[in-house]
Amino acid sequence: MVTSNFIKNIITDDLETGKHNSIITRFPPEPNGYLHIGHAKSICLNFGLADEFEGKVNLRFDDTNPIKEDTEYVNAIKKDIEWLNFEWDELHFASNYFDIMYEKAQLLIKKGLAYVCELTPDEMREYRGTLTDAGKFSPYRERSVEENLDLLERMKQGEFEDGSKVLRAKIDMASSNMNMRDPIIYRISHNIHHNTGDKWCIYPMYDFAHPLEDAIENITHSLCSLEFEDHRPLYDWFVKECEMESTPRQIEFARLNMTNTVMSKRKLKELVDNDVVDGWDDPRMPTIAGFRRRGYTPTSIRNLCREIGVSKADSVIDSQMLDYFVREDLLPKAQLAMTILRPLKVVITNYPEGQVEYVEIENNPKDESAGTRKLPFSREIYIEREDFMEVPVKKYFRLFVGNEVRLKGAYFIKCNEVIHDENGEVAEIHCTYDPETKSGSGFTGRKVKATIHWLSAKEAQKAEFRLFEPLILDDVPENEGKHFLEQINPNSLEVIEGLIEAEATKNASPLDKFQFVRHGFFSVDTKYTTNDKLVFNRVVSLKSSFKI
Ligand code: ATP
Ligand code: MG
Repeated sequence: MVTSNFIKNIITDDLETGKHNSIITRFPPEPNGYLHIGHAKSICLNFGLADEFEGKVNLRFDDTNPIKEDTEYVNAIKKDIEWLNFEWDELHFASNYFDIMYEKAQLLIKKGLAYVCELTPDEMREYRGTLTDAGKFSPYRERSVEENLDLLERMKQGEFEDGSKVLRAKIDMASSNMNMRDPIIYRISHNIHHNTGDKWCIYPMYDFAHPLEDAIENITHSLCSLEFEDHRPLYDWFVKECEMESTPRQIEFARLNMTNTVMSKRKLKELVDNDVVDGWDDPRMPTIAGFRRRGYTPTSIRNLCREIGVSKADSVIDSQMLDYFVREDLLPKAQLAMTILRPLKVVITNYPEGQVEYVEIENNPKDESAGTRKLPFSREIYIEREDFMEVPVKKYFRLFVGNEVRLKGAYFIKCNEVIHDENGEVAEIHCTYDPETKSGSGFTGRKVKATIHWLSAKEAQKAEFRLFEPLILDDVPENEGKHFLEQINPNSLEVIEGLIEAEATKNASPLDKFQFVRHGFFSVDTKYTTNDKLVFNRVVSLKSSFKI
C-alpha cells in the first residue's frame, strides 16, 4: 500500500469524475545500466498504485539511444523488478514504436509543425536565446513540407552523417519555457541498436518519444521525476499535435537521494568501469542487484519506499534508514549462529583432553519453533580477541587474568595465564572452567558480569567475512565541486578470515541469511562462495551490540 499522497488524490479524483474507468501506469527505465534504489521508489510507486487501484502497470524499456543501451541491462532490470516481487502487465520496448513515431514526425511536418534543421550544435545554442532574450529563427525553419518530408526520409535512409541534420518541432522561439523553443525530435546516429539492429539510423529524442509511448499504451498517469516539470508543456504539445487518441497526464514527484553514495546509472557505471567496485552487484553499490547480493530483502526495500512516501520536495535520506528496515525484517527470520571474526585461542586447562560434549543452543531466541542445535564444547576453544584484555580498562568485564565470564550456553571460565609469542603478542590464554556452572543447570552460586561467545577449536570451520562501509566518504558527494571519484572511501571493504560454527551453516547456500551473535546480519555471497568455503557479506551490524 502506498500511503496517501498527492498522486493518489489525483487518481481518486479521476476515477470519481469518470475521467478514467481504470488506471494504467508504467515504469520506463532506459536500459543503460542497472537499477538503483531511486528506481525502487519509482517501481514501488507505479506498481503500488496499479495494485491499489486495481489498474495495470507496464514495464517499458525506454530504449531510444542505441549507444548506451544493452540487452544485459534489459535482463538485469527485469530480474530486479521480479525480485522486488512486482509483476508487470505488459512488457514493451519504446523501439517497437519507431515506425509509429516516424509517421507522427511526418504528420508534424505535414502540419507545418516540424522542419529539418542544419544548424551546428553551437549555432543552435546561440539561436536558442536565453531566459531573458527570445531566440532567433533558424534559417531552415521555413522549408517547404515536401522538402522536409524528403530530407527526413533521406535522413532515415542513411544519406547523412551523424550530427549533420536534425528534425525539430516548430513551436515558439520566444517562449519563456526554453523547452518549447523548437526542440529536437530526431537525430542521426549510425549505431547498432540492441533491439532494432541496423534498421534505423535516426532516433527520436526523449521529449518526443516519451509522450507518444505513454499515449500508445493508454497510460493514464505518467509519473516522472521533478526535473521533467518544465517539459510538461512540451509533453502535452506532442500528445495533442501528434493527434494521439489517448491523453496521458504527466505528474512529477521528487527523486530519492541517499547519503554517502551516488544515484545515477551513469555515475554507477563509472564506478564499475574504473574498477572501484567489483561489478554492478558489488554489495557496496546502491543498485538493487548490489542490495540483493549484500543481503537486503525485497520487504526491507519496499518498506523503506513506503515509509519515505512521495512528495514534490527533493530530499536526501540517510543510508541507515534501509538498515532499520532490514533489521526489522531479518530479526525474526535469520538463523542464529556463532562466528569468531578475530580468533584468540583459549585452552581450558582443567577440561579433559580429547573430550567433547554438546551444549544446547537456541536457533532463534525470538522464534521457539526454530528449535535448538548442539554445539561442541572442548578443551580448546576460540573467542574474539576483543573479549580479552591484558590490561583491562575501567569497566571492562570480559576476560583478563583473574576474571571470570560466562561462555554463552556453556560454563563459567576464569582466566589464569597469558601466553605470548616471540613478538610479545598474545598467542593464547589459559583458563579453567567450573563444572558446576553449566548453563541451564540452575547454578546460582555466584554471578559474572559478562557473557561471551566461543567456538570449539577442532570443529570450527574457516569462513570469509566481508564487512562494508559507505562507498563515498562525504554525506553529499560532489559537495564543493568535488568529483565523486575523488571521495571514494578507501576502507569501504574489509575482508576477514574467521571461524564459523560448522553445524549451523552446513547447508547454507547463496543468499541465505544469518544472524551472527554480536556481529550482525550476514548473507551468503553469490560470487565468492565455493563448495570449500563459505563467504558472508555483512548486511548490517546489530543495532544494539550484545549487552555485556
Ligand atoms: P539515471 O540517471 O539513474 O539513469 P534516469 O531518471 O535517467 O536515472 P530512467 O531509467 O530513465 O533513469 O528512469 C526510469 C524511471 O525511474 C523514471 O521514471 C525516473 O523518473 C525514475 N527514477 C530514476 N531515478 C530516480 C530516483 N532517484 N528517485 C525516484 N525515481 C527515479
Ligand atoms: Mg537516464
